[in-house]
Amino acid sequence: MGSFGLNEASRLSRQILQLLKQEEPFGQAGIDHLLHLIAALRQQLEVSDDRGDRGDRGNIKAIASSPGSPLPCSHSYITNTATLFIVDDDAVLAKQLAIEAVSWGIQTQTATSLEQARQSFSNQQPDAILLDLNFSDSNEGGLAFLAELRTQFADIPVLVFTAEETFIKRVKAARLGCQCFLQKPIAPAQILAAVAQVLQQSNQAADRLLIVDDDPNLLQLLRTLLTPHGYQLTLLDQPENFWQTLEQTAPDLVILDVDLHGYDGANSLEPLSGIDLCQAIRSDPRWNRLPVLFLSAHTDAETIHRGFAARADDFLSKPVVAADLLTRIQTRLEQRKLWDVTDIDELTGVSLRRKTLQDLTRLLQLAKRQQQPLSVVILDLDHFKQINDQYGHKAGDRVLNHLGKLLLRSFRAEDVVGRWGGEEFVIGMYGSVKQDGMKRLAKVLHQLSQHRFIQANGLSLSITFSAGIAQFAEDGNDWQTLYQMADAALYRAKVQGRNRIVAAEV
Ligand code: GH3
Ligand code: MG
Ligand code: MG
Repeated sequence: MGSFGLNEASRLSRQILQLLKQEEPFGQAGIDHLLHLIAALRQQLEVSDDRGDRGDRGNIKAIASSPGSPLPCSHSYITNTATLFIVDDDAVLAKQLAIEAVSWGIQTQTATSLEQARQSFSNQQPDAILLDLNFSDSNEGGLAFLAELRTQFADIPVLVFTAEETFIKRVKAARLGCQCFLQKPIAPAQILAAVAQVLQQSNQAADRLLIVDDDPNLLQLLRTLLTPHGYQLTLLDQPENFWQTLEQTAPDLVILDVDLHGYDGANSLEPLSGIDLCQAIRSDPRWNRLPVLFLSAHTDAETIHRGFAARADDFLSKPVVAADLLTRIQTRLEQRKLWDVTDIDELTGVSLRRKTLQDLTRLLQLAKRQQQPLSVVILDLDHFKQINDQYGHKAGDRVLNHLGKLLLRSFRAEDVVGRWGGEEFVIGMYGSVKQDGMKRLAKVLHQLSQHRFIQANGLSLSITFSAGIAQFAEDGNDWQTLYQMADAALYRAKVQGRNRIVAAEV
């Protein structure tokens, strides 16, 4: 509040803070004092709002007039706040921006001259910079400062805003890496929207590539080639460390050489090949869908066939053709993201039926090969039709949406959670026996039944589900049998009164 020029309000807030910090119990006198301070603070804010302090209106009023509503600055906002550094000699505009920024969860720092900006920079680095190009008290323009920023702080995004629009300036700013060019006059809210967008883009983590090749020169070449494209690289010339590195770096894509000349630990002299690594990736449910490209000097049909048989996504030949490699990497990364979106049910956030079945089949094969248990659950909401009839379809949708999120939260990333249709869900838990599965499911059922869905008219509803669970290989060897067994158990759960989980019986 002090930084908004509300000095009396700032003083009162400090007193309230002191009061809340004290350790002794409050007592009636303390409560009265606190209420008095809050009333005085509210009065201060209303006065400042009536004065119509430029730009203060929106936010201050929101706080002052609706004490019951949550403040725009929630705790999580504060901990995640990004800092925007505003460099502009227009102090009034800078102040408006600072106020607008609060509701975007963005903190601001302001410098009204380039001199001041340079000084502040040596102390603290912001997450983004908003830079005016013209400074009335200086011959030096914002572009010169932008050039300095580029050399010293290349990764802080810069937005430029200026009253003077010339195409040449735009080009110059873009060449200096400015991410966004804004034309004054522009409303503070629009500026902050642009800032938020730029911050979000810069937050998106770079795609991570893991590259395995026993030739250090080739790794070096790939580094030179790929780094400028913003990939985060992990280069590995010792295949023995592959698995550990994979788990540590969790890459978005892997590039493998075929011949690696590595050895599988001390007790075996069997050379490890890229094909082995690819097969290992494919046999683990967590990495099964990771894009794998082979990059090899062997381009004979036999090797390529072995690569694809190991379920690689692509095969490229050495010597590396830069443009080709880049395109194939990009395509694979994009396909993977697209695939993710179209397989997800919008309402619940879990997988759609087709994808669920694919993933379950894969887990089942893996369970067979590794001789591990796999528990399969069919879950169905109880009396869901009544919810729709009584509270409307929208209320029903909200329940489904809540359940989807709850299921995703409750199961591990390697488990399969899917919407089989309507209000029926299927879950696959690799490595879990029925008893474990039932325990996990019971927790979910408890949480769901405790949840109160508040309706627009103030009424609240709650809901439960019934579920049947079957286990590979105890209750069946294939998906059809397991589904039937789980479904029969679900039926018994319904008959026995719903709101329960029943295990299949052979
Ligand atoms: P039971 O306990 O025996 O399962 O009773 P139920 O009412 O849940 O069973 P029933 O299968 O008769 O009803 C399922 C209802 O789910 C009918 C359908 O309108 C509703 N439903 C299916 N998909 C959706 C959806 O996407 N949104 C909403 N709101 N309702 C859905
Ligand atoms: Mg139902
Ligand atoms: Mg049903």
